[in-house]
Amino acid sequence: MNHAADEPLRGTLYVVATPIGNLADMSQRAIAVLSGVDRIAAEDTRRTAKLLRHYAIQTPMLALHEHNERDLAARLIAQMAQGENLALVADAGTPLISDPGYHLVRLARAAGLNVVAVPGPSALVAALSVSGLATDHFVFEGFLPSRQAARKARLEALRGEQRTLIFYEASHRVLECLKDMQVAFGLERQAVVARELTKQFETVRADTLQALSHWVEDDPQQQKGEFVLLVAGDSGVATHSVHVEAERVLSLLLDELPIKTAAKVAARITGVNKRALYERALGLKRDPQ
Ligand code: SAM
Repeated sequence: MNHAADEPLRGTLYVVATPIGNLADMSQRAIAVLSGVDRIAAEDTRRTAKLLRHYAIQTPMLALHEHNERDLAARLIAQMAQGENLALVADAGTPLISDPGYHLVRLARAAGLNVVAVPGPSALVAALSVSGLATDHFVFEGFLPSRQAARKARLEALRGEQRTLIFYEASHRVLECLKDMQVAFGLERQAVVARELTKQFETVRADTLQALSHWVEDDPQQQKGEFVLLVAGDSGVATHSVHVEAERVLSLLLDELPIKTAAKVAARITGVNKRALYERALGLKRDPQ
């Protein structure tokens, strides 16, 4: 059956992508499916109500969000098993991508129901497609932990990742996050800040992590809105040259400063991890070259 037909399949869960800012990005198929299903499960019914009003869609809604999804999913599955068809939407973009819906989709599939994608916008793909970074292999990391220690540890674990890295970040943490990225990946690693995609103040800027941090820090306008941060994968070569330079800086500082301070200052200058520099400093003291 052609799923694009106006008549929805009975007992089906439609996972429907909606715009990430620009309402004109709504697909005709999304409009047809949302108009034709029995109910729409929306993350925030007030937000989705605006979208529905814009397209004169009168389908009833129910709220499905991270706090009630587990409880609600089983009930919705039972209703779909009776023939009801349901569309799932997020506030913006593709449901389940850093948004609720995973439990519902998993249960629906386990129950043998039809689960049909109505694809459309997603901030991560939009950002990647215009980033100029490698697109053949990439890793979507979603949101980093909000606590700094956990965020730094996560970034540290990604230091040698060779695929393009994609992160979502809240506006009030963008600057902090870029600074932590400098420490984990080095000042010179290429990155992209993609802000307010498809909206009035859309800005996509590519530069080194250091230059991007300065740019965001110097212009409070660049700290507003919604962000995708992308970081080039580790090329091996760049890391090698950064580490060679870090070692040179470290040896100079070791002539003048105690080990701990030298490692700390070298880390600040080069963006290389402090602990790694401290260990290298111990090695250099033990075994000067
Ligand atoms: N499901 C959505 C998707 O498919 O992109 C993502 C939902 S997640 C809760 C929201 C995050 O996505 C925002 O904090 C931001 O990082 C990113 N985002 C959403 N819309 C965006 C836009 N127009 N421009 C840049 N980033 C956006």
